[in-house]
Amino acid sequence: VRIGIARETAPGERRVAITPETCRKLVALGAAVTVERGLGRHAHFADEAYVAAGAVLADDAAAALAGADLVLCVQAPPPALLATLREGAAIIGQLQPDADPARAEAIRAGGLVAFPLERLPRTTRAQAMDILSSQAGMAGYKAVLIAAQLAPRFFPMLTTAAGTIRPSKVLVIGAGVAGLQAVATARRLGAQVECFDVRPETREQIESLGGRFLDLGVSAVGEGGYARALTDEERAEQQKRLGEHLRGIDTIVCTAAVPGRPAPKIITARMVDGMAAGSVIVDLAAETGGNCELTRPGETIDAGGVTIAGPLDLASSGAVHASEMFARNVFNFASLLVSDGALVLDWDDELVAKTAWPPREG
Ligand code: NAD
Repeated sequence: VRIGIARETAPGERRVAITPETCRKLVALGAAVTVERGLGRHAHFADEAYVAAGAVLADDAAAALAGADLVLCVQAPPPALLATLREGAAIIGQLQPDADPARAEAIRAGGLVAFPLERLPRTTRAQAMDILSSQAGMAGYKAVLIAAQLAPRFFPMLTTAAGTIRPSKVLVIGAGVAGLQAVATARRLGAQVECFDVRPETREQIESLGGRFLDLGVSAVGEGGYARALTDEERAEQQKRLGEHLRGIDTIVCTAAVPGRPAPKIITARMVDGMAAGSVIVDLAAETGGNCELTRPGETIDAGGVTIAGPLDLASSGAVHASEMFARNVFNFASLLVSDGALVLDWDDELVAKTAWPPREG
């Protein structure tokens, strides 16, 4: 099997889908790996390290992917590059085919078999391939560091000759993978941490990390154990209790999401208005619109003394470890597609069949 990897082209993308470590493992499976020169520059993986791991270097993207049976990427290559792939080639990455009609068309017209890893079923067996989880961990960690950086306060309690400093109160909204990593990170920095979620089982997870579960009296579990969107009444109840609570909070980290929908709006402009000047909101949900009504994706704004940041590319900002995890996820999925050194698509394997795009009949 010939595997090709071109440099990422999306603005701000620093991660890579193959590291020297996973390159070596792919070569051990019998793959011939070609990477574009400079592939890992922004994630600090040198060309020589890929060569030492058994890869061949190509001078440009088209040459890296020429004749490939399998293409690995973080984000989808541009449609013009997809159009150069051979019919039947497979491609693995965070491809988001529905996000761009030209991309979807290039995949269909080229007869490519795409495996957008964000479509992977979230079963126990799939965990080692789950890019949403691995990248969310980095995002939750970085969001807290940004909050600490923007805050005009210490996070920890300090007892000093200049008196005692009280610890910051941090509220994390949403206790999925990113939210729990945010709770753990803020705790490590010494803050007092509270967190709430609409899935009741998160209480125990939050408490096990040293956080306090904030009970807003709303439980909304839907299909597959994921959160569902709140009804108008539930939303009103959540907002009433939350609004009163926010006055005592110094820093909010927003991570709430509902699969397949824009981020739920949880913090209203009025709530922000009621927060103390000097408070900070970091909205990790900015990529899907944000949990705060005032969030502007990609910007940091001042709303009456409250700083609101909507950082994008959080996972990319930790490119070394984010790439190591992403590349292992990709390797684990790719190894399902390689048998005796050849590309073999086993449509009886649920992970292969359900992840594939265009979706398969039946
Ligand atoms: P996510 O990014 O889709 O959502 C983040 C969190 O926001 C979720 O915990 C959700 O309940 C919460 N949320 C949604 N609406 C909310 C609201 N109005 N108010 C407060 N919170 C709200 O979630 P995720 O991090 O991708 O994962 C969620 C769950 O899936 C976790 O329990 C995780 O353990 C599980 N999971 C399982 C697997 C697997 O088995 N392969 C992999 C990943 C995640």
